[in-house]
Amino acid sequence: MNQQVFKRIHKIELPIPFPLRTTNVYFIDDSPKTLIDAGIKTEASYHALKKGLNLIGYDLNSIERILITHGHIDHYGQAKKLSSFSGAPIYIHSKEYGRIRSFIHSLGFIKSILLRNGAPEVFVNEAIQYMESAQIMADSLDEAFFLEDGDPILFKSMVWKTVHCPGHSPGLICFHWPEEKILFTGDHLLKEITPNPILSVAEYHPPFRYPSLKDYLASLEKIERLDLSLLLPGHGEEIFEVRSLIQKIFAHHKERMDHILFSLSKSEKTPFEITNDLFPGVPPFEIFLGISEVVGHLGILKEKGIVRVTEKAAKDYYSLKP
Ligand SMILES: [Zn+2]
Ligand SMILES: [Zn+2]
Repeated sequence: MNQQVFKRIHKIELPIPFPLRTTNVYFIDDSPKTLIDAGIKTEASYHALKKGLNLIGYDLNSIERILITHGHIDHYGQAKKLSSFSGAPIYIHSKEYGRIRSFIHSLGFIKSILLRNGAPEVFVNEAIQYMESAQIMADSLDEAFFLEDGDPILFKSMVWKTVHCPGHSPGLICFHWPEEKILFTGDHLLKEITPNPILSVAEYHPPFRYPSLKDYLASLEKIERLDLSLLLPGHGEEIFEVRSLIQKIFAHHKERMDHILFSLSKSEKTPFEITNDLFPGVPPFEIFLGISEVVGHLGILKEKGIVRVTEKAAKDYYSLKP
């Protein structure tokens, strides 16, 4: 990144009470002054942002536009509060907006998916309670403008492009600055951990699951086709080795799929049982993430005709096709 570019992008790390520890937000010093993602709505996150902006000579009122990569609370939680100070309009993909507004309703549906995937009721209740209680760290968005794939993002001295990358969540968008070959990736690509395609409700067609992993892998291919030299992610450090990271993620999913096939080679199983095989002893919320990934793989394997599903006592059992 050359000096001029570097001067225009300020990364500010905001604390979150989750294993990733911080969310990155980026303040773009151009016109309009733009914040990419907003962090969760807690006192600590609010003060960290204020301090970060003060250090570069700005304050919360300086924010003139807020772009949200996706509708997870660590990225949009504080957006409404910031917008109410500064009057900055909020931009998000239309699919995320719908999910944020109906999140609490969709919990009932997530519960039924988990039960169907073989998770015991006590475990499901714990996971749902966790998700419900985390919602206090976010304000629902009443007003937002929508960004769709390919939409330009205009600054005084540059034009960026919106890149829709569904997978980790259905309406995740990355922001592409073609001249500098930079991509702001949200949670689509992270340096140290493999982003998890999260189980979520297919917006318009419940009770069908959103095909998160299939979409995620297609979005990875989409990013692979762009000419990029730097990724600025929603958590952790910047990434210069773009192609090798993408290859690493493809390899990770291939390996995971092999583990799932191995787990099924012994007997038929529910997705919950497979998840326990893959990640023994992890706590409920992480099991939820694990099931998300396993279900994503099973969806692909089913489509390819490698596994089949049988329903028994309202639970889905997967087995290898003979
Ligand atoms: Zn996320
Ligand atoms: Zn995140």
